[in-house]
Amino acid sequence: MKTLSSYVGDQWVEGSGAQQMLLNPATEEPLACARSEGVDLAAALDHARRAGGPALRALSFAERGALLGAMAQAMQAHRDELLELAIANCGNTRSDGKFDVEGAIATLSAFAEIGTSVGTAQFLVDGEGMQLGRSPRFHGQHVAVPRTGVAVHINAFNFPAWGFAEKAAAALLAGMPVLSKPATSSAMLAHRIMEILVERRILPGGALSLLVGSPRELPSLLGGQDVLAFTGSGDTGARIRALPNVVRESVHINVEADSLNAAVLGPDVEPRSDLYELFLKDVQRDMTQKAGQKCTAIRRVIVPAVVAAGVREDLVELLGGVRVGNPAMDEVRMGPLATASQLADAREGVERLAADGELAFGSAAPFAAAGVPAGKGYFISPVLVEFAQGAAADVVHAREVFGPVASLLPYSGEAGDAAAIVARGNGGLVTAVYSDDAGWIREAVFGIAPHCGRIYLGNAKIELSPGPGTVLPQLVHGGPGRAGGGEELGGVRALAFYLQRVALEGSRPVIQKLLGTRTG
Ligand code: NAP
Repeated sequence: MKTLSSYVGDQWVEGSGAQQMLLNPATEEPLACARSEGVDLAAALDHARRAGGPALRALSFAERGALLGAMAQAMQAHRDELLELAIANCGNTRSDGKFDVEGAIATLSAFAEIGTSVGTAQFLVDGEGMQLGRSPRFHGQHVAVPRTGVAVHINAFNFPAWGFAEKAAAALLAGMPVLSKPATSSAMLAHRIMEILVERRILPGGALSLLVGSPRELPSLLGGQDVLAFTGSGDTGARIRALPNVVRESVHINVEADSLNAAVLGPDVEPRSDLYELFLKDVQRDMTQKAGQKCTAIRRVIVPAVVAAGVREDLVELLGGVRVGNPAMDEVRMGPLATASQLADAREGVERLAADGELAFGSAAPFAAAGVPAGKGYFISPVLVEFAQGAAADVVHAREVFGPVASLLPYSGEAGDAAAIVARGNGGLVTAVYSDDAGWIREAVFGIAPHCGRIYLGNAKIELSPGPGTVLPQLVHGGPGRAGGGEELGGVRALAFYLQRVALEGSRPVIQKLLGTRTG
C-alpha cells in the first residue's frame, strides 16, 4: 500500500510512527496511509522562509501569476486522473469531483489573470496618495508588501483540491511561500497534485511544501511574519487562536469554520414560478452535492408559513429521486460521507434535530446504499427536518450537521422576521434570498448583511449561476461569528492577508519617485 510522503525542503520525506489509513468511504477499502512523525517541521518552515520567500519576492505579480497559470495547466492535463482519485478517496460522484478539481483549476486561472492585471510591480500601491499638511509637499501613501515568513494552510477534508488551490493561489501571488496541510482522510488528491507540480518543476525551490498526516506542533512553530489560514471546525480554529505563540507574536490567522447557511423564500414567489423552481433546485443541489459536506450548503430553509406544506411536499419529492450509493456508478447522484466519524457526527446531529422537529424525509438510520457490499460505507440518506415552531426552535440555529441535512422553518413572510431568523445562526458564510419584490429584497438584504459574508440574490434570469453553494474567486468567502470571522478570495482583496500594509509619510517627490507613481 502506498505511503503518502510529505514534500518539505524540496524533497519527498516519508514520515514514521503511527500511521493513519486513507480509505474509500463507499467501500471502506484501504487506499493509502499517511504519517508525519519524524518530518522536521521547523526545518521545513525555515527552508520555505529562506529559499521560497526571496525567490517569490524577486518576481513581479505578473510573473507570479504566470506560475499560477502553469499550475492550472498542469492540473488540467491530469484532470481525469484527479477525478478518479476524488471518486475513490473522497466519496465524490464524478460531478462532485469536477466541482472540487475544476473549481481548483478555475481559481488558479482567475488569480493568474489578477497577476497579469496587477502587472510588473513587486508591491501594491494602496489607494491614492494624500496631502497631509498645509503644504502639498507633505505627503502620505499606503503600500502593501509581502510578509517575509511562510503561509501555512490547514485545510478541511471536503475540498482537498480547491481548498489547496484557493489558498495557495492568493499566497503565491502575494509573494509568500506556502506549506499546505490537507486533512488526512482525503489527502490523496492534494498529494497527487503536489506530485504533478513537482514533476513539472513549476515553482521556485521552497515556494510550495506539503505536509501529509497529523499537523503535530505545526501552528506553534509560527512567528510574527508567518500567517496561518485554517479551514475546519470552529473548535480547532479556537484552539489554534489561543496558542501562546499565536497570541504572543500576533501571528496573522484566518479561520473559515462552521456555518448554518440559509435560503429565504420571499412571500411574493408563486409556487411553480421560475423563481420558485430555482429555489427548489438550489436547495436540493446544496443538500446533496458532495453529500452536503460543503461549508456553504443550505442548512436552514426559511419559507412563508402559508406555503410551507407545499415546499415540504416538493422537496420530499425531489429528495426521493436522488440515488444514493457507490459514486463510482454513473447513475448514483450522492455518495457517502467522508469518514466513519463524520457519519457518526451527522447521525447524532440528525437525532438532535429530530428530537425538536419532525422528520419530513430520511432519518439517521443505517442506509442501504446502491452498489456497495451490505453494511459497508459511510452512507446516510438525505434528511429534511421540519420545525413547525420556526424561529423558536433552538437546536436548528446551533447545530451544523455536516451532511445532506437541512431544516424547514416557516416564518411570517416579513423581511425583518426572516433576517432575525438568519441572524440566530450567529454568523454564516452565505444566505440566499429569493424574491422579485424590490422593497422586500432591500429590507432582507440589509437586515441579513451584518450576519453573513455573502448574499445570493436568487433570480430567474440568473438560472445559469452555479447557485449559492459555489464560492467564486472574484467574491469574498468567509463570515462573522460562528463562520470564523475570516475572509478569503474576493479577487485582489485576497492578497491583503499575505501583505503588510505600510504607511509612507514624507516628501511627495521622494515618495512618488520611490514608488514610481510620479505622473508629471
Ligand atoms: P477539523 O477536525 O478541525 O480538521 C480540519 C483540519 O485541521 C484538518 O486538516 C486537520 O488535520 C487539522 N487539525 C486538526 N486538529 C488540529 C490542531 N490541533 N492543530 C492544527 N490543525 C489541526 O475539522 P473537520 O471536522 O475535519 O472538518 C469539518 C468541519 O469543517 C465542519 O464542521 C465544517 O463546518 C468546517 N468547514 C468549514 C469550511 C469553511 O470554508 N468555512 C469548509 C469546510 C469545512 P487532520 O485531518 O490530520 O486531523
